[in-house]
Amino acid sequence: MLATRMNNLGTETAFEVFAKAKALEAQGKDVVHLEIGEPDFETPSHIIKACQNAIQNNMTHYVPTPGIQEVRESIANNISTTRNIKVDWQNVIVTPGAKPIMFFTILALAEPGIEIIYPNPGFPIYESMINFCQATAIPMKLDPNNGYHPDLDDLATKINDKTRLIILNSPGNPTGGVINQTDLKKIVELIEKYPNIYILSDEIYKDILYQDKHISITSFKNMLEKTIILDGLSKSYAMTGWRLGYGLFPQELTPHIIKLAVNSVSCATAFAQAAIPAALEGPQDELISMKKEFQTRRDLIVKGLNNIPGIYCPTPEGAFYAFPNISKTGLTSQEFEQNLLNKYGVALLSGTSFGKYGEGFIRISYANSQDNINQALERIADFVKQI
Ligand code: PLP
Repeated sequence: MLATRMNNLGTETAFEVFAKAKALEAQGKDVVHLEIGEPDFETPSHIIKACQNAIQNNMTHYVPTPGIQEVRESIANNISTTRNIKVDWQNVIVTPGAKPIMFFTILALAEPGIEIIYPNPGFPIYESMINFCQATAIPMKLDPNNGYHPDLDDLATKINDKTRLIILNSPGNPTGGVINQTDLKKIVELIEKYPNIYILSDEIYKDILYQDKHISITSFKNMLEKTIILDGLSKSYAMTGWRLGYGLFPQELTPHIIKLAVNSVSCATAFAQAAIPAALEGPQDELISMKKEFQTRRDLIVKGLNNIPGIYCPTPEGAFYAFPNISKTGLTSQEFEQNLLNKYGVALLSGTSFGKYGEGFIRISYANSQDNINQALERIADFVKQI
């Protein structure tokens, strides 16, 4: 018999829709893929080379659980310069992908009777893990009328003595919204009188930002000590399949997180870790050109969607997702997702895959070529016309 807590575990429907789309393709149907959140570019060759050298030099054994020291030092330097802070490499933990950072953080902090605030619509694993660990999941509304910035009045009503963790994600999945300096300052002020609240700042899309500069909540006074930074190589360097992520933890949490890592993964793949300094310290030109291409695609998709009657798409400020409102088409988000895939061959995700406040919206990953985006836009326009 299965443990009861398994009933509380959610999932990431992107992988399910991807499988459905692949099954349709196997039947001979042409499908445009706008469901999966991964760059469609290749990993830069100097990063691949660093890993090839490492495996050739027999870096094929266990390494310390939190990661190879030089790799952790490289990450600490990168975090320090990109956030304008000074961090200790000993609080950096390398993991297979960035997902374990949220998994371990929530496992370490969540329990019955405590509350965790998380963005909604937001990355579905936050809510899934909070529920799995039997804490109370408190959704923080993102405001579609204000670029999907957090609704801070709503947030203020939700913070209390039971709150142990607040999850922030900027730039955000699925909305592309960014939490700006003013809003971050207000969040810092809101939690000032609650010394026991930690922040999990998911900054995995920090390099894919179309305006301004990335601002981390850790750059505010006293926030480094209570913030976990989640980051990794998956999105910035087109390395989703490498499974390389990392976290920076407040010192008092670090040994506990390492213990969770010992109990589960032992360490991230030794030779893959060699790719981290190569990525963070090597040439950044491919990252820059990838971001430029994403921006062109963003403009293409936003303009195209806003030309379709019944659809309204705000302009995302970061990441590679658009989150248009489709409620005026009269369909639910699920109906939109399913009918569009089955009848018109465009795979995208219902907004409800990202929480209850996602009803009325769909998520489009524009990590696909301009040709494919144009084709998808034509199909979406035809689909909406016949509703
Ligand atoms: N955080 C957010 C907001 C994401 O969208 C993703 C991946 O889609 C992750 C974390 C996980 O990244 P990784 O593939 O490195 O585990």
